[in-house]
Amino acid sequence: MDLKTGLNSPVLADHLPTALPAAVMTFTTPTSFPSPGLCLNTTKKIPLPGKVEEVRATGWLDLMMASSPTRKRQIKDVVNDTQADDLDLQYHNWMVDYPSALTSFETITDLAGSKRLALFLDYDGTLSPIVDNPANALMSDEMRAAVRHVASLFPTAIISGRSRDKVFDFVKLNELYYAGSHGMDIMGPVRKTADSNGVECIRSTDSQGKEVNLFQPASEFLPMITEVYEKLDESVKDIVGARMEDNKFCVSVHYRNVAEEDYKKVFQRVTAVLEDYPCLRLTHGRKVFEVRPVIDWNKGKAVEFLLESLGLNESEDVLPIYVGDDRTDEDAFKVLKASNRGFGILVSSIPKESDAFYSLRDPAEVMDFLRKLAAWKEQST
Ligand SMILES: [Mg+2]
Repeated sequence: MDLKTGLNSPVLADHLPTALPAAVMTFTTPTSFPSPGLCLNTTKKIPLPGKVEEVRATGWLDLMMASSPTRKRQIKDVVNDTQADDLDLQYHNWMVDYPSALTSFETITDLAGSKRLALFLDYDGTLSPIVDNPANALMSDEMRAAVRHVASLFPTAIISGRSRDKVFDFVKLNELYYAGSHGMDIMGPVRKTADSNGVECIRSTDSQGKEVNLFQPASEFLPMITEVYEKLDESVKDIVGARMEDNKFCVSVHYRNVAEEDYKKVFQRVTAVLEDYPCLRLTHGRKVFEVRPVIDWNKGKAVEFLLESLGLNESEDVLPIYVGDDRTDEDAFKVLKASNRGFGILVSSIPKESDAFYSLRDPAEVMDFLRKLAAWKEQST
């Protein structure tokens, strides 16, 4: 999907809305995932001794320093008007490539036309502000009402790095589908198509007694994740500001409250623990390290899985939109971009390279966008 755009007049390339190919499912089924037992028996270690460690640590440290700061930090860092103007200019230049989904709203609705929209929403930094304590990342009542409204009009799912239970406790809406642990814990509708692609689900019921499908491709890794959580917790407990979070199929080590001079210590402690777990990998988000199983599954795969579960994957008459702010959301942006059947919206108040097509500055703009989508749908039906 090529996006040719000017600052105020984004133009979608001609082939965009009309050339969406037939959906191609590319699930990697649970049967092809590495067995945790097999991984534990391997002697392969993450090579971190001596200079190699320094090089790796330097690369990670750059990443840690560059990781998006919280809004509070950004404001604090703007020390004078000239710098503020420079930042504004950089942002506006960046928006040439990633136009605002609000100012491009008509383009988006033209593209949607009579297609069925499917909405996929990240949680942290998208529906809720990034805050110092992740446990306090509450969404506002206004945002909840906006999400409830769009969910009454379009199939809507939340896809978060948090555990599914935790993100449900934040969102508290039964109208949605939820994928926690970066898509490794999905509660979705009972599949409308025959169980294909070898994807194995567990039939269950939700809190309302409604029949649902549970899909947990990394369930074999649960004991290992529990074990590594305890080791990491022990390892970083003396680093002031480091905060652990158990997200069921993945573990987060937050360092947004750690002094910068201790960043290297955080990295070294985390990687030292992971030396014994070649089946686990380390990824990096907004001031957070995330440890998760090495399986071919991510938020992009979760989007494909949910589309298929909703019976929307085979239809060219569907426009999936994914809204997210983080590096892990790029997997979903990439899936939509590669299949040329929808697009991502990056939530960011600073310029970032992305596979999204549009941007929104912050959760407040996300709420405006959701409200506009709902109003457009209601006016057009
Ligand atoms: Mg996020």
